[in-house]
Amino acid sequence: MNEEPRAASETLLRDIITQLCAVAGTCNPELAGALTALDTAARDGQSQAALRQAATALSELTARGAQRARPGATALPPARPGAAGSDATVLIQGVLRNLSIPTTLEPLARDIQQAIDRTGGAPRRDLVDQTLHLMAEAKAHGEQRHRELQDFLKTTVGRLVQLENAVTHVQSASRSGSDELAHAREVTQAQFIQLRSVTTETDDLEELKSFIGERLEHLQDHLKDQDEAGDEKQRRLEETLVALSGQVAQLSAETVTLRSRLDVTTEEALRDPLTGAYNRLAYERRAALEVARWRSDNGKLSMIVCDIDHFKRINDSFGHAAGDKVLKEVVRLLQEQLRSSDFVARYGGEEFVILLSGAAEDAALQIAEKLRRTIKAAPFRSRGERVPVTISCGVGTFGGEDTLEAVFERTDAALYAAKAQGRDRCVPSVSQAA
Ligand code: GH3
Ligand code: MG
Ligand code: MG
Repeated sequence: MNEEPRAASETLLRDIITQLCAVAGTCNPELAGALTALDTAARDGQSQAALRQAATALSELTARGAQRARPGATALPPARPGAAGSDATVLIQGVLRNLSIPTTLEPLARDIQQAIDRTGGAPRRDLVDQTLHLMAEAKAHGEQRHRELQDFLKTTVGRLVQLENAVTHVQSASRSGSDELAHAREVTQAQFIQLRSVTTETDDLEELKSFIGERLEHLQDHLKDQDEAGDEKQRRLEETLVALSGQVAQLSAETVTLRSRLDVTTEEALRDPLTGAYNRLAYERRAALEVARWRSDNGKLSMIVCDIDHFKRINDSFGHAAGDKVLKEVVRLLQEQLRSSDFVARYGGEEFVILLSGAAEDAALQIAEKLRRTIKAAPFRSRGERVPVTISCGVGTFGGEDTLEAVFERTDAALYAAKAQGRDRCVPSVSQAA
């Protein structure tokens, strides 16, 4: 070998070793050590024997690595025994035989091998370049696979955490006694047992990846089904609640309507339709209450019974409608003069009864007089004519052991007396106590 090819061959050899060191450094420290020894031997211009020793050590290591090469990778043919190649060629062949070459790069490796076979082992710059390119690609591929593996593991850990949360949820829910959830827990546990046994038995990454992926998908689908079944139950429950609360709202609205209708009916039952004043029924109820209160409070209570004078004449002279109008106006005037705590009812026909809570006899008589004067002074008119209207009043006051009936009776008697005395006047009853 003359000087020039020898120098070129050494440069190429160093390039290859540098690349190999870079590749090996990312995966195997033992291999990296052997390569560094070889690199040092080549750089320091050590003897051919020292160089060969370093190359043999590397060759043994890479041969061991080849035995662990993944199954399915296309095995490249061994170097032809007869081909006496240069150091660079020997190393290229070693690389081609022992480097874990990805499937996509196998055609390139085969091309390089065939070119070496054709040249009979003489070093060629383009073959070395191709080999360097192949090694760079293999390294990039290895790094890519490393990143993929990291991503895969990261995703798997994330999914396992999710799964664990879901399983915890299912387990705590299943303790509440639901058969469905207990079943979900059993299925989930079975999946975990299977997952654990496969991960300990298999060392093929692809197989493991696909197995874990499938198991996780299956588990997640299963848990999703469980969630959906739970959601469906929840949805039905909510629908029932909405329907129920709707019914309750409707019932309550109907109750309010019914009650207000009942109130209206009750109110109507207590009112005189013509004048709007309370009727006799209302009087009886109110009177019972007032008498009870008078007794318990030992207070004062008086009564006025009044009647329109000669009302028949009004009807006869001005007509029944005019009579009605007079009745309504009398009620309005009476209410206007009375306090809100007083009570006025149309007892019948043109006769009214008034309860004066808290009023003694004198006060009651004064009120009766005020009412009489007001009615007398009011300008009733019909068909342009003035209608003279007066009332007569009997005034009674509760005292002693009086009952409602007794007081009413003597007040009515006082009214009768007022009529008898000429009408348009107020007459106090003779109290039982007096
Ligand atoms: P007195 O002074 O003695 O009370 O004589 P009066 O005419 O007022 O009494 P009487 O009992 O003789 O007549 C009452 C009349 O009142 C008879 C009845 O037709 C009339 N009357 C009763 N209720 C109504 C009503 O709602 N509307 C009208 N327009 N008249 C009524
Ligand atoms: Mg009358
Ligand atoms: Mg009368």
